[in-house]
Amino acid sequence: MTNTPLTLHLYNTESCVKEPLVPLEKGHIKMYTCGPTVYNFAHIGNFRTYIFEDLLRRAIKFFGMKITQAMNLTDVDDKTIKGALAMGITLDEYTQPYKDAFFEDLKTLNIEPVEHYPAATEYIAEMISMIHVLLENGLAYVGSDRSIYFAIRKFPRYGCLSHFCLEELQEGASLRVVADEYEKESASDFVLWKAYDALRDGNIFWESPFGPGRPGWHLECSAMAMKILGSTIDIHVGGIDNMFPHHENEIAQSEGCSGKKFVNVWMHSEHLVVDGKKMSKSLGNFYTLRDLLKRGYTGIQVRYMLLHTHYKTQLNFTFAGLDSMQTTLQRLESFILRMEEFVSAPSLNSHAPNSGIKVDEIINIADGKFSEALADDLNISLALGSLFDFIREINAYCDASGMFPTEAAKVIALLKRFDTVLGVMKFDVQEKEIPIDLQEALQKRIEARAKKDWALSDQLRDLIVSRGYVIEDTPLGPRLKHNV
Ligand SMILES: [Zn+2]
Repeated sequence: MTNTPLTLHLYNTESCVKEPLVPLEKGHIKMYTCGPTVYNFAHIGNFRTYIFEDLLRRAIKFFGMKITQAMNLTDVDDKTIKGALAMGITLDEYTQPYKDAFFEDLKTLNIEPVEHYPAATEYIAEMISMIHVLLENGLAYVGSDRSIYFAIRKFPRYGCLSHFCLEELQEGASLRVVADEYEKESASDFVLWKAYDALRDGNIFWESPFGPGRPGWHLECSAMAMKILGSTIDIHVGGIDNMFPHHENEIAQSEGCSGKKFVNVWMHSEHLVVDGKKMSKSLGNFYTLRDLLKRGYTGIQVRYMLLHTHYKTQLNFTFAGLDSMQTTLQRLESFILRMEEFVSAPSLNSHAPNSGIKVDEIINIADGKFSEALADDLNISLALGSLFDFIREINAYCDASGMFPTEAAKVIALLKRFDTVLGVMKFDVQEKEIPIDLQEALQKRIEARAKKDWALSDQLRDLIVSRGYVIEDTPLGPRLKHNV
């Protein structure tokens, strides 16, 4: 293991430089991540962001810090209201199945659960209090449509995150926008409280001192982040498309209320494209996680695919790429099995007793390289490169001289340490997961081959293959392997 403790450095969208991560509270990071709008199943572009956030979370823990993270569920906005009204059901009835599906998908992708999943509809009171303060501070006003707006020109830091100057914006910048999403060119006073409109909102509204209505989407995140994590938080993360206007508006609302800096480090992940094109339903290249599972891919394959490119690089999703992840994962799995065999079969060792020093050296170098790569703004490609260099070197070492069980155990310990960050490896699976009848079939096949009964041998092989397993030859004889 490395001697000098490394410091995690992260690229801050606001300052445009990589900064050492220094928690506000010693050893404890507070992080807010914008979660899904639960009006549909999340697509693989959304999951690219959530996988990146999971990598960040795991890396923070890898570097010895504790983390408290909140990811919101937007269960009230233009889209959810429209969906519920179209189906003639309540907002809750409409969003609950999508909330459930989201949590199922997180599990499939081995994304760690975070500490808080606040739903916007549970924080309406906090949102109303914030609007009060913003009105008192002269940063908000009541519009002619009875909605309440944030006056961006009253907040001098507006534009600090997306680095634009309000004065340079085109005419129209003083207009008010009641919609939740809009373009940067039309940066406008945005809505904090949307006054009730019977035609648009049906029976979905909340009472407030400003009249019936519902909160603006941007306000939801500010209220939940500050209530759960405090006025100033260490890291705020989201996809790049959330940077403007959503995050810019979050800063204005939060700092306009508290008078304190809202976020120390802002991080944004790049887009995912499919076959080089923007993912869209009209192009027929729009995929949810569920679409990929239906095509026979596993959650871990999709996880690896979404994980292996640096978060600030656009990720080009292709099916050929996804297929190739299978080969990579199989290499990992075979290596783990090989190490587990060395642990359980000391007879495989043939080398001189003091050569264990060499394995310690290889382990130290690999650990150092992996940690350094991660510490450098989560350079995942380099980290994975050091993992596969490690595998190659250990394999070469074993080919030459075998391995002591104690050495193999150290190799496995390092893999487990790496996997706390990667979340793609499986350990101790061989015997536990293979059905008994297939293990018996393998044994019968070994006997059939010894008797040169090729017909029976082929029949048993076909049975094994039809159940999703392959037969692999190892120094200990044939064994079954899941055909992932
Ligand atoms: Zn948000």
